[in-house]
Amino acid sequence: MTGNGNIFGAMLQEFDSAARLMNLEPGIWRILTSPKRQIIVSCPIQMDSGEIEVFTGYRVQYNISLGPAKGGIRYHPDVTLDEVTALAAWMTWKCAVSQIPFGGGKGGVICDPTRMSRREIESLTRRYVAEIIDAIGPDKDVPAPDVNTNEQVMAWIMDTYSMHVGHTETAIVTGKPVVLGGSLGRREATGRGVMICAREAARHMEMDLRGATVAVQGFGNVGSVSADLLSKLAARVVAVTDWKGGVYNEAYLDIPALMDWVKEHKTVDGFPGGHPLSNDDIFKLEVDFLIPAALENQITLDNVHDIKAKAIIEGANGPTTPDAHKILHDRGVFVVPDILANGGGVTGSYFEWVQNRHGYYWSEAEVNRQLEEKMVEAFGAVLKTALKFKVDMRTAAYIVAIDRVATVTRLRGMYA
Ligand code: NAD
Repeated sequence: MTGNGNIFGAMLQEFDSAARLMNLEPGIWRILTSPKRQIIVSCPIQMDSGEIEVFTGYRVQYNISLGPAKGGIRYHPDVTLDEVTALAAWMTWKCAVSQIPFGGGKGGVICDPTRMSRREIESLTRRYVAEIIDAIGPDKDVPAPDVNTNEQVMAWIMDTYSMHVGHTETAIVTGKPVVLGGSLGRREATGRGVMICAREAARHMEMDLRGATVAVQGFGNVGSVSADLLSKLAARVVAVTDWKGGVYNEAYLDIPALMDWVKEHKTVDGFPGGHPLSNDDIFKLEVDFLIPAALENQITLDNVHDIKAKAIIEGANGPTTPDAHKILHDRGVFVVPDILANGGGVTGSYFEWVQNRHGYYWSEAEVNRQLEEKMVEAFGAVLKTALKFKVDMRTAAYIVAIDRVATVTRLRGMYA
C-alpha cells in the first residue's frame, strides 16, 4: 500500500459506513477516528561511504484502549505518515476482530533497503529503535515485521531494546527467530488462518471444500502456506501466480512440488506441472475460491467484471478497492475481508508475546490448536453480525471491531 495517495481517507470511508449502521455516538466516533500518538524521528546514520544520511522514521499508536499497540515496521522509500497511520488503524480493527488484547500500531522508515548494506540496515534499525524507545515496550507497543523487515531486523530490535533496559527482553517484538523466543507456527499462522476462513466460508456456503477449485495470487509466505494447507484438505489448487508469471492445471497443481520449484527458481514461473498463466488471467478463472495473497489494489473496477470466483478470501492487505468490493457484494460473491482473513498473523504474534512473557513455550500443535479456536470464533462473530445487519462481511468485521473498541472506551471513560 506504500505511497498510494490518501490511504487514511480510504480507511475512514470503511469505518464511516460501519459506524453509521451502528449509530455510533459522535464522541466515540471522534475518538476512534483520531490517532492517539504519532511519533516522527530523524535517524542520522554513517553510511559505508563515510557520508552521513538522515532517515525519517514514524511510529503511530492509533488506539491502545484494548492493550499495547501492535503492528509491523516497514522499510520503503514511499513510506508516509498518512500510510503508517492508516495501517495502524487497520491493526486496531484487526486485533479487535481477532479478540486479542492489543491496540493498533505501525511503524515505517523512509529508506530503500535494496540499496543499503547489511551494516547500514542494522545501524538504521538500532538508531530508529533508540529514537522511539520511550514509546515502545512489552506493555506499551510491540513491533513486528512488515514490508522489507524480517527476523534478523526483529533480532536487532530486541537486542537494542534489551541493551537499553539492561536485561534480555524478548516480549518487545514478535516475528523473532525461534531460537530467540520466536513462536513455532508463527510463520505459517497467516496462511493457516486463510485456510480456516476458506473452510468456514465453504461451510457457510454449503459447498464441499473437497474437490473445490482454488486460485492463489502470490506464492510467498501467505499464498504458499494457504495453498499447501488447502490442498491438504483435498481442495484443488488449480492456479498460482507471482511477480514473474504463473501456472495453471485444470486438474490440480502439486503444491509440495511447486514449493520445491520456488525454493530453487524463486518464482512459480516455468513450473512443469501445468501451463503458463498471466497475472491478469488468474482473475478470469472459473474457480470456487480466489485468494489474493500478494499486493494491495489487485481487484479493481478494471477487472472486477471478469471475476467468476464464488468466494474471495483476502490473504493480502487491501487487495480489493472499495468500489470493486461493492460490485462483488452486489453480485453475491462472498468476500472474507483482510482484517478477518489474515488476522492469523497477528494472532500468532500474540501467542509469541504470551509465550515470551510466561517464559514457557508451546508445541506447534498447541499454537495451531489455539489459532484454530481464535479464527473460528472470529469468523463466527463476523458472520453472525453480517446476517444480523444484512451487510457484507467487510462491513460486519468493522462493526465487530468498532463495537469492541467503543465498549472499552465507554467503560474506561474520559480522563481529564
Ligand atoms: P511475500 O513477500 O512472502 O510474498 C508476496 C508474493 O506476492 C510473492 O510470491 C511475490 O512474487 C508475489 N507478488 C509480488 N508482486 C506481485 C505482482 N505484481 N503480481 C503477482 N504477484 C506478486 O509476502 P507475504 O508475507 O506473503 O504477504 C503477502 C500479503 O499478505 C501482503 O499484502 C501482506 O501485507 C499480507 N499479510 C502478510 C502477513 C504475514 O504474516 N506474512 C500477515 C498479514 C497480512
